[in-house]
Amino acid sequence: MVDVIVRPEGVRAHVGVIGGSGLYDPGIVENAREVRVSTPYGNPSDFIIVGEVSGVSVAFLPRHGRGHRYPPHAINYRANMWALKSLGVKWVISVSAVGSLREDYRPGDFVVPDQFIDMTKSRQYTFYDGPITVHVSMADPFCDDLRYRIIDVTRELGYTVHDSGTYVCIEGPRFSTRAESRVWKDVFKADIIGMTLVPEVNLACEAQLCYATLAMITDYDVWAERPVTAEEVEKVMTQNVERAKKILFNLIPRLDGNPEPGRCSCCRALSYAVV
Ligand SMILES: [Zn+2]
Repeated sequence: MVDVIVRPEGVRAHVGVIGGSGLYDPGIVENAREVRVSTPYGNPSDFIIVGEVSGVSVAFLPRHGRGHRYPPHAINYRANMWALKSLGVKWVISVSAVGSLREDYRPGDFVVPDQFIDMTKSRQYTFYDGPITVHVSMADPFCDDLRYRIIDVTRELGYTVHDSGTYVCIEGPRFSTRAESRVWKDVFKADIIGMTLVPEVNLACEAQLCYATLAMITDYDVWAERPVTAEEVEKVMTQNVERAKKILFNLIPRLDGNPEPGRCSCCRALSYAVV
C-alpha cells in the first residue's frame, strides 16, 4: 500500500468486498492502492483498497475500519455503499461473522443467507430521506445469481456451506439474552444471528447492486447454553477468515462480467420503487 488517492476520478472497480470481523485486509489484492472516497453521507469506515484479483478489479472495504474502530451501530453504512457504487462496483460480496441458532449449522460452517429479519433500532436505512420516497422490495433481499456463485466456489474448496438461512440482525453492540436467543430460534425460526446485515442489504438494493453475504459461523448463540471460551472462538474465527480469503480469491475472477438481467433483477430494483 503506497499510493493514497484522495480523489477517485479514474479509479474504478468491478467487484466490491465488505470485510467483517477479522477480515481487515484480504491479502489477495494485486497492484493495491489505498483510495479515500468522500460521500454525501460522510466518510466510509476506512480507506478502500483498490486493485486486482486475477485481472478483475476489486475494491475492498473493512466494514468496522482497520482496528475494528466502528461497532455495528456506529458504522456509516450509507457512506460505505455509496463509496463502492461511486467506484463503479457491480457486485458486492459481504463477509460477516455470525452466531448459529441451529444445532446443524456448526461453528466453522459457512452460510449464504437468503432471508433476513430486522431487529435493529436506530440506523439510517435509506438513501432517500425525501423529497423522493423509495419503497424497495425486500421479498428476496439477496442476489440469487451471486449467492449461487459463492455457494459453488465454497463447495468446490471442500468447505461446508449451507445454501439458505434466515439471518436475524440485532442492534447490538450487546449480545442477546437467553430469552431473546430462544425467541430468534424457536419463534422467529431464524438460523443465524449478527449485527451488521441491516441496513447494508437495504442500501445495496437501493443502489441497484448485486449483493450477497458470506456468513461465517463463529459459535452457537446463547440458546445452546454451551459455554465457549474466547480461545475457542478465536480459533474458529482465524480459520474462517483464512477460508474466506481463499473463497474470495477463487470467486472474484468469476465475476469478471456484468450481472445479466436474465439471472437477477438487482439492477432494476428501483423500477417500481420510487413514489
Ligand atoms: Zn443480482
